[in-house]
Amino acid sequence: MTSPASSTLSTALDVEKIRKEFPILHQTVNGRDLVYFDNAATSQKPLVVINALAEYYKGYNANIHRGIHTLAEKATKAFEQTRLTAKEYINARSEQEIVFTRGVTESINLVASSYGRTFIKEGDEIIVSELEHHSNIVPWQFVVEEKNAVLKVIPVTDRGELDLDAYRKLLSSKTKIVSVNHASNSLGTVNPIKEIIRLAHAVGAVVFIDGAQAGAHLDIDVQDLDCDFYTVSAHKMYGPTGAGFLYGKKELLEKMPPYQGGGEMIKEVTFKKTTYNDLPHKFEAGTPNIADVVAFRYAMDFITETGRAAMAAHEHDLLQYATERVSRLKGVNLVGTAPEKVSVLSFTVDGIHPFDIGQMLDARGIAVRTGHHCTQPLMDRYGIEGTVRASFAVYNTKKEIDQLVEGLERVINFMK
Ligand code: PMP
Repeated sequence: MTSPASSTLSTALDVEKIRKEFPILHQTVNGRDLVYFDNAATSQKPLVVINALAEYYKGYNANIHRGIHTLAEKATKAFEQTRLTAKEYINARSEQEIVFTRGVTESINLVASSYGRTFIKEGDEIIVSELEHHSNIVPWQFVVEEKNAVLKVIPVTDRGELDLDAYRKLLSSKTKIVSVNHASNSLGTVNPIKEIIRLAHAVGAVVFIDGAQAGAHLDIDVQDLDCDFYTVSAHKMYGPTGAGFLYGKKELLEKMPPYQGGGEMIKEVTFKKTTYNDLPHKFEAGTPNIADVVAFRYAMDFITETGRAAMAAHEHDLLQYATERVSRLKGVNLVGTAPEKVSVLSFTVDGIHPFDIGQMLDARGIAVRTGHHCTQPLMDRYGIEGTVRASFAVYNTKKEIDQLVEGLERVINFMK
């Protein structure tokens, strides 16, 4: 999991200094120091992000793009700066390829609705995988139902990897869209998306990548990947909730109809005919989530300045340590043991419901997630109802993992 090079990098991070940037971490929960291990659900926010939100509302709150007054111009500039930062962050060709959305769920719905409803015909096939979040299943089911198309599913192996041989067999000239995640929220598996994209393109399909669990943890280069669409949510990247972006290749976004109608997305409106705005505004109807988009830039800068490689190395150290310690506990079964993972540790404990574990850990100030993690088909695949999931971020420490292990030992002994 951790290469020697990345171990060296991880020691370069001053985690105590980083922790000071996250005020929420410094509190007690149920009488204990908070241990926040629910980062795959949402990460905490550093002061630069919190301050950016406050400064926007205190100093230059105004509606963007249409105003000519000073505040409107300042707000527009800050909003558009995030688009430039996002373009750099994922190495898009142009900022016209970055569409702001509320996050991953909205981005998938946008593409399913606009691209899917326009280009999918009866009998066409859309491929997803067994590893997907419901957000990357349900919007495609809408399309399939409406168009009488077919949904095909890439199975996962026992370790939680996509079965690429099975994927190759699913691909055909009928395949029009392949939509998979870059990393799994339930198991942490990092998927070989470059190969998945290459194989899909060989049969003429477009590829959508759900980057919800990659945004803060993995390098993303959309030109190198050659994906057609890619999306992230700010709130999983140390940024605010309710903001994210969709990357789409310009030539695809151009031929897609608007997703929602309203202000901002139009060029000219008459009762006879409306013409649409240029990219990316064609897909940004109505007043957007200005403050959160503005602050999102500071979250991306935080990651870039801290260093994506150093952060990933630190998180992998934590994952390796937690995996070793937790797997040794009596009755623990790890769920998802792929060799390449983001910092997600999912497990069950014989005879104890994940919900009970979650509650008893919370009583000790430890926040983990329990349940199906919005991946019910994946839970079905393993014949389980859910897991306990601990997911780590840059501000987490080995000492906190020791607290988790101690908490788990107590739960297991108590429940026996
Ligand atoms: N896909 C994956 C892999 C996720 O982890 C999540 C969030 N748990 C989503 C999609 C949905 O993201 P959001 O709620 O930010 O729209």
